[in-house]
Amino acid sequence: MPPSAAATAESLLAFWADGGVDAMLLDEPLDRIAAGRIAPPRPPERKAAPQAATSPARAGAPDVSAAVAEAKALAAQAETLEALAAAIAVFDGCPLKFEGAASQAVVYRGDPAAPLMVIGEGPGQDEDRQGQPFVGRAGQLLDKMLAAAGLTGRVLITNTVFWRPPGNRTPTAAEQAACAPFVERAIALVNPRMLLLVGGASAKAMLRKDEGILSLRGRWHEWRSSDGALDLPAMPTLHPAFLLRQPAAKKRAWTDLLTLTERLDRGHRPA
Ligand code: URA
Repeated sequence: MPPSAAATAESLLAFWADGGVDAMLLDEPLDRIAAGRIAPPRPPERKAAPQAATSPARAGAPDVSAAVAEAKALAAQAETLEALAAAIAVFDGCPLKFEGAASQAVVYRGDPAAPLMVIGEGPGQDEDRQGQPFVGRAGQLLDKMLAAAGLTGRVLITNTVFWRPPGNRTPTAAEQAACAPFVERAIALVNPRMLLLVGGASAKAMLRKDEGILSLRGRWHEWRSSDGALDLPAMPTLHPAFLLRQPAAKKRAWTDLLTLTERLDRGHRPA
């Protein structure tokens, strides 16, 4: 008996989902530049000065300066994390909100007065469904590692972007730049003693560096807010999704976490 249309459709969808195509977009392509949602790329400048990794003014990158200005204004008004999450939910300046993969803004979970802030890359499918960061398989591994290091209940977890990128791709520098004022405000409100930067896209954006995660991880860096008013020690480490694919790398991530915990607990050992 030939398979029913429903079974054929299910099997086709499973095929695409296995390949990472798990978000419903549009039936027809949409020219977002023509629709005015994204500024057209600037022609490359001949003698462009070197720019930081997340600079919105990078030659050829979309100009997100208006979105950044709006995000800064909204973020500055938020006096609590709840107010910040509400401001993020109404912010339309990050293109990811309109890419079709995100059903809601995913902002934070954890202790609003935590001594450690964990900053990942961006929400995935499970996070988008549940509205909380790091709740899928990678998040479960992260939680296990934090528990083993004695950090359960002592962290606040967020991401560099608050909307799920289509197909779980890495967020772009422009998307991260549009969300960065909210991330900075979250850091100011939580006032942690240090940051754990999870994955290359987080480490590069937060530290404004172009090096890969394998060279950044395991060493202390200084995170500085864009106005220079805040600075904190930051430890980049490997992303748990990478560790799920490459279990042999868990040892390196564990070493990073122990280095961080040793500094966090110096003089502040939990009872
Ligand atoms: N990966 C991330 O970087 N963040 C999440 O919230 C989930 C998966």
